[in-house]
Amino acid sequence: MKLLNFKYGLIVLTLTSFLSCGKHKESATVIHAVTDLSHQFTFYADNRFYQQYMPEGKGVANWVDLSDFDLSNTNLLILLGCDDRISYSKEDVETITGFLNEGGGVMIFGNDKTKSQNELLSNYGSRFVAPAAYPLVAGRSFNLDSIEGNGVSVIDLEKPSLWNMLIKDSKGKPVLVKRNVGKGTLLVSSRELAGSHPSARDSINKTLWKTILPRLAEGKKVDTTKRFRSKGIKQMKFNEDHGGFKMSYTSYMKPYAKEMVNVYKNALPFIEERMGVPLSPGMASHITLLPTGGGGFSSGETIGLAVWWGDFPEKKEGMIEFLTHESVHSWVLPFPEVWNEPIATYIGDLVLMDSGYQKEGLTRIENTIARATRIDPEMKNYDIHGNLTGTGSVLNDSEKNDIHWGKTFWIFEELRKENPDIISDYFKAKRVHVKEGSVKEYDMNETVRLLSKAMDRDMFGWFNDIGVKVNSEKPEIK
Ligand SMILES: [Zn+2]
Repeated sequence: MKLLNFKYGLIVLTLTSFLSCGKHKESATVIHAVTDLSHQFTFYADNRFYQQYMPEGKGVANWVDLSDFDLSNTNLLILLGCDDRISYSKEDVETITGFLNEGGGVMIFGNDKTKSQNELLSNYGSRFVAPAAYPLVAGRSFNLDSIEGNGVSVIDLEKPSLWNMLIKDSKGKPVLVKRNVGKGTLLVSSRELAGSHPSARDSINKTLWKTILPRLAEGKKVDTTKRFRSKGIKQMKFNEDHGGFKMSYTSYMKPYAKEMVNVYKNALPFIEERMGVPLSPGMASHITLLPTGGGGFSSGETIGLAVWWGDFPEKKEGMIEFLTHESVHSWVLPFPEVWNEPIATYIGDLVLMDSGYQKEGLTRIENTIARATRIDPEMKNYDIHGNLTGTGSVLNDSEKNDIHWGKTFWIFEELRKENPDIISDYFKAKRVHVKEGSVKEYDMNETVRLLSKAMDRDMFGWFNDIGVKVNSEKPEIK
């Protein structure tokens, strides 16, 4: 690190005027952008960058091995990140360099903490090394008053003369640079200079990116009449049929696949038993592995699992809870539960207990309930969304969330004392009585009606006593 810092002394770069070349005609470069999420899954990576900064172009996502994506009709490749537990392969680097040589524009984002991104950058003679000093300064031609982005890093350049500095920090060190590689252009930027929120509401430095992006892409023409599409989960290198389910994954996820199949296969019978009914046809029939430690999704048919969740594969407990959670989402569709998130994890904890982690499952349940009893020891004053229905104070969002989770867990634990099969009996009743078109809205009243059937007694009184206001006249289910 010391050596790298020393190199700064040698960097003599002036801010390049990006626009003022004069020779640039305002040619409308059509952008076909590919955002890579195969090395690091985030919801943002699923096309948010493109939505924020180049809505007039076309953007698609890459879920597969980078070398399996046909980049022939692409002129911009966006590499937002790579989880440090994996890295870019030799084939990846060849693909990126080949694309640059043909005139493509490549953006590599990172900072001084992103090990794998810095490894990739070292192939092109650069790497992020240290925090930048503020304020940041853009080349004059950008005509920008300020640059947004906190926690930006400065870049060390092996051969500074190869690079153009577009943004520097207050000490003159580069934070956004570009260079030619073959006929193409490589741009290296601190990750913090662009948005990152899954809602795409944080379009920082919009003017900057809107200026830069067409220039990056202009080295390569794309054909708008030809197909340009995402390459998704079902096109991954590995697609295995495991009988009850299929699993798709990339080369990068291969080291984790076998263990995941084992955990899923072991958990599935317990999930089925807890749910009491089989999955609706086609649901949760496809699993994919996501290169992230947090977050996942269920689209009904496909479940995406964060491969390093809860320290998987070293630890299995968190993964059992998590994959059950996502499975339950698929199970209940098309009628999400009123307690859709907490009930999914609650069943995950029951399955954890079934899977031999009795104590761990129980502890997780008790801890979740404690989040609610801290606020309302009697469990009488709030509905399951944390709205005040009895006496006490109005809750803030975080407290409401604690009630939502804790009270849901508590309700099912109370019911389970009387009927150990409450969950499966409830979902059996739901499967019989709730069909497409049978209820307008699957709400709390309908839910309590079904719980009454599952408990074989009228539960409306009890729910009203515990602050969950329901009315037995309301349900459409009789
Ligand atoms: Zn969920």
